[in-house]
Amino acid sequence: MVTVEELFAIDSLLSDEEREIRDAVATFANQRLRPHIADWFEEGTFPAREIAPQLGEVGLLGMHLEGYGCAGMSATMYGLACQELEAVDSGVRSMVSVQGSLAMTAIHKYGSEEQKQQWLPEMAAGRALGCFGLTEPDFGSNPGGMRTRAKRDGTDWVLNGSKMWITNGSVADIAVVWAQTEDEGKQVIRGFLVPAGTPGFSAREMHRKLSLRASVTAELDFDDVRLPADAVLPESRGLASPLACLSEARFGIIFGALGAARDCLAATIDYARTREVFDKPLAAYQLTQAKLANMALEFGKGQLLAVHLGRLKDRGVVTPEQVSAGKLNSTREAIAIARECRTILGANGITLDYPVLRHANNLESVLTYEGTAEVHQLVLGRALTDANAFR
Ligand code: FAD
Repeated sequence: MVTVEELFAIDSLLSDEEREIRDAVATFANQRLRPHIADWFEEGTFPAREIAPQLGEVGLLGMHLEGYGCAGMSATMYGLACQELEAVDSGVRSMVSVQGSLAMTAIHKYGSEEQKQQWLPEMAAGRALGCFGLTEPDFGSNPGGMRTRAKRDGTDWVLNGSKMWITNGSVADIAVVWAQTEDEGKQVIRGFLVPAGTPGFSAREMHRKLSLRASVTAELDFDDVRLPADAVLPESRGLASPLACLSEARFGIIFGALGAARDCLAATIDYARTREVFDKPLAAYQLTQAKLANMALEFGKGQLLAVHLGRLKDRGVVTPEQVSAGKLNSTREAIAIARECRTILGANGITLDYPVLRHANNLESVLTYEGTAEVHQLVLGRALTDANAFR
């Protein structure tokens, strides 16, 4: 008997160091996070403050960034780490993605030296948490329409507006907030660093989610929030700045979603081998094997694509369209795998005693955030035809 990874000899694509890092993250995630995850999901909580320093200690926060206390690992290593975290739960990987690929990357790419020195080492250690506020109640797929505005008042900035669906939002020490500004009469989107506790800034946790329950999601409000001149990320200019951060986080999802799919497959194969129906194990029926074979095939193809894109990213040549293709494929196939696995588990599949419906529900969010599946289809359609079908 082989695992789905062994079936495709995935290990042979990885260096010794990559395998070691992947296995170390898997051990950490299985020992520290997996025993609690079903309870966190059921309770709709995630102890971000408690977990972040542990993630920081093993170098998982901003792990692909250079300097400032970050681990400076390759993109492929970062992807493999995301895969092992998401094999436990997409909520854990989301927390790490938002901290490292969104909030820290925004500061690393567009921040001043002072901003980097102030925030990045603390965030890498997990002592400070960050969030990334781009989406608004009326602007998700088209963030360019955002209504949040920062106006100059002398040398200060005054921020007004609101953000919605912000991961880590109500536990963050620092919010990276994207707002429209006016520069010589022209509208330009720029990033601002807004510390928690700034007068006029409030964050409210969102409840009643049926997906990513082990993840903090919040609404942010800005009511005449006065910020000093140096709150702006000086190198950020236009929508391209937050979109470049999103591309970083999307890359992690290419690997991450496959971790969730792999976890579903492992639990399901285990179940099917022991569950007897009509006097023999479920695994011995051709219909079950056809389902497993098809799922294993999609998982394997997804892994090959993920490693290929990791290699391109490590060479600095991956394109946003390729990242879109990977995100679309991994999330779409992972959710299909999770749902199909659920059928094999029958009624047991709907409980938190098995990970499959938890993963399937989480993947609904993963399919939607960092660009919906439809948005990535439009990105690929535009690349293939030169016709923009967004509007
Ligand atoms: P809409 O944009 O309203 O889309 C609705 C539907 O219309 C989708 O199916 C979409 O694909 C489709 N659609 C949109 N445009 C087109 C088009 N041109 N052609 C055809 N179909 C189209 N945002 C942040 O800024 N920071 C975060 O940390 C963050 N965390 C999140 C955590 C969770 C759990 C969730 C669920 C979301 C999070 N988001 C975050 C928000 C996420 O990025 C948005 O939900 C996403 O961009 C989609 O926006 P929307 O929900 O407004 O959907």
